[in-house]
Amino acid sequence: MPELPEVETIRRDLEHLRGRTITRVCIASNADRIIRGVSPDAFARRISRRRIDDIARRGKYLLFHLSNRDGDPSVYLAVHLRMTGSLTHCRPDGDCGPYTRAVLSLDDGTELRYSDLRKLGQLWVVDRPEDAVGALGPEPLSDDFTADRLHESLMKRRAPVKAVLLDQRVIAGIGNIYADEALFAARLHPQRQASTLSADEARRLHRAIRRVLRDAIGNRGSSFRDYVDGAGREGSHQLKVKVFRRTGKECYVCGAEIARIKVGGRSTHFCPHCQPVEDR
Ligand SMILES: [Zn+2]
Repeated sequence: MPELPEVETIRRDLEHLRGRTITRVCIASNADRIIRGVSPDAFARRISRRRIDDIARRGKYLLFHLSNRDGDPSVYLAVHLRMTGSLTHCRPDGDCGPYTRAVLSLDDGTELRYSDLRKLGQLWVVDRPEDAVGALGPEPLSDDFTADRLHESLMKRRAPVKAVLLDQRVIAGIGNIYADEALFAARLHPQRQASTLSADEARRLHRAIRRVLRDAIGNRGSSFRDYVDGAGREGSHQLKVKVFRRTGKECYVCGAEIARIKVGGRSTHFCPHCQPVEDR
């Protein structure tokens, strides 16, 4: 599932579409449930003939700010890729893969295509970004996200630290891959009760989260299954992960076997030696 580094990679890939105008919108007839809140026809009407003024990201959401039109105020096209969604910029004759659910034709003749094997992704047209994204925690790579703020959030929670990292209201954009990787980098056991982390451990985790996310963006995201970037190419961070889906393999740091457990119903990968249960 695409997380912050994957969505940010797509955002950067699509940034050059700023200034383009959406001329036509086609929604596949079997994909109407990906359009949220309005009918596919109303959705197409509301975003057509608007210029893309900006492409931003909040957590795992992409936000296209679309210009005002004929006296109507500007709107936002919000996209959440969920499990198998992808958003690629193609020439009209280009092959962007099967499962295309929505095609946005642009004024230079190219197309922005939304594809989704499982059709679990979501597209909204809203007046304000908050109407689509809801209440999200701080962006982990912004200045708002400090070690103190993270420690404060953790202190209020009795859940395992891994489960708290996945809570989008605490930090926006982290999913299963980068939660496991950040906890390994911080040498913290995923089942540690969040409220028991010391200020020092929270600082370690804060630093680890930022480093892991930045490294993954540098490698253009992780393609374990379906993820592709804004041009349809795979990322390479899946080759660099230290614990995620490395069950039974040797830890790169200590040589112990990477273990897999369930935390809050999610598969969780960690090194039992580098991430001991007890505090150190
Ligand atoms: Zn280890």
